[in-house]
Amino acid sequence: MRLDGCNGDFELCTNLTEFDVEYNIVTEGELRTQCGLDALGCADLNLSIGNCVITLTASSSRSTKLHEQNHCRGWDHDYHDYSWTFRRPKVRWKPWDVVIDFLKKRKP
Ligand SMILES: [Zn+2]
Repeated sequence: MRLDGCNGDFELCTNLTEFDVEYNIVTEGELRTQCGLDALGCADLNLSIGNCVITLTASSSRSTKLHEQNHCRGWDHDYHDYSWTFRRPKVRWKPWDVVIDFLKKRKP
């Protein structure tokens, strides 16, 4: 779901969450464990404390970093739901409807 028409694979989206972002740089093996089998990276949004942890490797591409940064900003794909769990990641991705509800409640 593109909240504001942003294409998060190619541009930095509006920061809807204003969360603090932390980076967790791991090995390729750890990335697969943390984020799931074919994931290039992942973002874990902690709604209660307002932060977001992005897991990447040292060799992750700029576009992967951008993609995960945008998840932290409240963006999700059109092509599949962010919380798709078939990859069985160790990171507990928030169901995206929970994130949407959170963002709606924050609006003035
Ligand atoms: Zn994604």
